[in-house]
Amino acid sequence: MTDLQKKKRIIELETLIQRYQFSYYNGEAEITDAEFDLLWDELKRLAPESLVLAQIGADGVDDIDGFPKVAHLIPMGSQDKAADPDAFRAWTQKIQAPVYVVQFKLDGASLELQYEKGALVRAVTRGDGVIGDEITRNALRMSGVLPAINADFSGGVRGEALMPRAVWKDKYANKANCRNAANGIMRRKDGAGCEDLVFLAYDASATGNDGFFKNEIEKITWLMARGFTVSETKEFTDVEAIIAYRAIIADTRQNLDVDIDGLVVKDRATNMDDLRRVRPERQIAFKFELEIAYTALRAVEWSEAGATYTPVGIIDPVRLAGTTVKRASLNNPGMIRSMNLKIGSVVSVVKRGEIIPKIESVAPTDALPDVDLPEESDIVFPVSCSVCGAALVDEDSRLYCPNPACPKLLLHRLEKWVKILDIREIGEKLIKQLFTADRVTQIHDLYTLTPEELAAFDRMGTLSANKVVKYIHAAREIPLAKFIAGFDFEGVGETIMEKIVDFGFNTLEKLRAADADALAIVEGIGEVTAKTIVQGMRQAAREMDAVLGAGVIAIAEPPDESKLPLKGISFCFTGELITMKRSQAEEKVKALGGSPKTSVVKGLSYLVANDTGSGSTKNKKARDLGVPVIDETRFLELIGKAVQSVSGVAASTHPPAQGELF
Ligand SMILES: [Zn+2]
Repeated sequence: MTDLQKKKRIIELETLIQRYQFSYYNGEAEITDAEFDLLWDELKRLAPESLVLAQIGADGVDDIDGFPKVAHLIPMGSQDKAADPDAFRAWTQKIQAPVYVVQFKLDGASLELQYEKGALVRAVTRGDGVIGDEITRNALRMSGVLPAINADFSGGVRGEALMPRAVWKDKYANKANCRNAANGIMRRKDGAGCEDLVFLAYDASATGNDGFFKNEIEKITWLMARGFTVSETKEFTDVEAIIAYRAIIADTRQNLDVDIDGLVVKDRATNMDDLRRVRPERQIAFKFELEIAYTALRAVEWSEAGATYTPVGIIDPVRLAGTTVKRASLNNPGMIRSMNLKIGSVVSVVKRGEIIPKIESVAPTDALPDVDLPEESDIVFPVSCSVCGAALVDEDSRLYCPNPACPKLLLHRLEKWVKILDIREIGEKLIKQLFTADRVTQIHDLYTLTPEELAAFDRMGTLSANKVVKYIHAAREIPLAKFIAGFDFEGVGETIMEKIVDFGFNTLEKLRAADADALAIVEGIGEVTAKTIVQGMRQAAREMDAVLGAGVIAIAEPPDESKLPLKGISFCFTGELITMKRSQAEEKVKALGGSPKTSVVKGLSYLVANDTGSGSTKNKKARDLGVPVIDETRFLELIGKAVQSVSGVAASTHPPAQGELF
């Protein structure tokens, strides 16, 4: 990046950050937190001294400290852990409690709410267990934190601040998991995002009155009566029943709203002296199975998708996070080399959350003392394409067939095109049939299909054949990013192309003229991706021209800021639409500068629902938040008016604010 480019980019970033910050505080976030963080990080890198960073302060940064330090009423000791039933049985032998109380072990951020005469005076994070950060203002934004409780109570209420999974998926997926997201948000100085957290209580203690609660069940009942939501709690007398209960919960926990990582088992009788211990003895964390395991690598298979050959490790079956794992991903040849992985190596395999298990590292052989390991041998890499026979190219980060005419590549490209344009009624089977019959080998061939010849394929009826052709011709003007992504350059999806287009490579001509160095300037585009795009643009040039030349598909003009009448207006859809698919409606909104949302959030402009009276969650939430609910007819009217305003009928000189347009 030249100095001039750098300066330009800094100004651009500062402008964007200020604008998004403003819209965020006005209840109409235009971009996700993840996207905001990207801009923030880039500016921090390019211009750490920027005043914009200082002005805005803590938002987007999780580690700003400076909260007052406050001692816990009762230290938050650390829990003993049992990782398996045997360790758990041993603990119950020692404790010999007549009744056990079993609660979900919530996987969030611990919080102590301190009350004086029924009023919340402080909320304190776990900190070092003795002293934590006072984050009362943030806590009050969380749902489930009660500013006052109906009782003359002075003492502490313990619980966990959690981010529901749905919220994490929707808004914070850039954080590794719900817990990290909750921890970060809870400690933001401006408290932004705390309303996305929920507080679940599981313990309480009254200051100066150790006998206030006789037992753990009384506590939970009392907390519920005050209005707290509490962690799921059950009583057991049979130790084996607890073990069985843990197995059931472990298998079904994916359906819970929040993450849990085990059970907490306590003696039913409350013992305050024990609770004050650094490591209380009369309770234990009975954790779920491990998410990392050691096993032996027996073979490596090469999975083929498009041009790429990806190594997959075949391992001795191993139990991991409740499932049996036999295959684990290896990403690319470079990973094999950097680990010096061999057939016969002992490997650690991890499976966290819902991701595919992956081989993380090579472990010493004594990690598996009882396994008869095969003699170590080198992993064999394929050297030629299984379909066209071309010599494969090994770039370390990727092993692939370089032949642009490789049938495997062409078929994959067709599938990608159909998928990205969301062409209905064409399944993989039909594409393959057309491809094998040599009728459709390139994208532009799709546009020459007639209903008559299609009807002959797969004994498809005339009606279906007509439909297929209709859907093929449905998409006409498509955004440049989508068009390029449809050509299936390795690892280049729509999101990456959108970044490039947004940066300014917003016409086919500009993209064709760009070299790899120019593209690599775009934030988030690596050298490899830039090269792939340049090479792909060259190789696919004729095919692109042919597709555009067929007269069906055109690339949409780059959006002109003044022609975005829906800018700042957001829509969420629920239920079926009659005149179009939801994805099409969302495209229309986007094309007019509006933002489609997947969930009903504060500040949403409209919820579109044909059944406006239905009791669906989205409808209910919209009513709660005062978001207007409109039906499809009204939506089409709005869109129609927006289109008119673009074409000058009701042109305005500035982008309309919410409500102004309609
Ligand atoms: Zn090939």
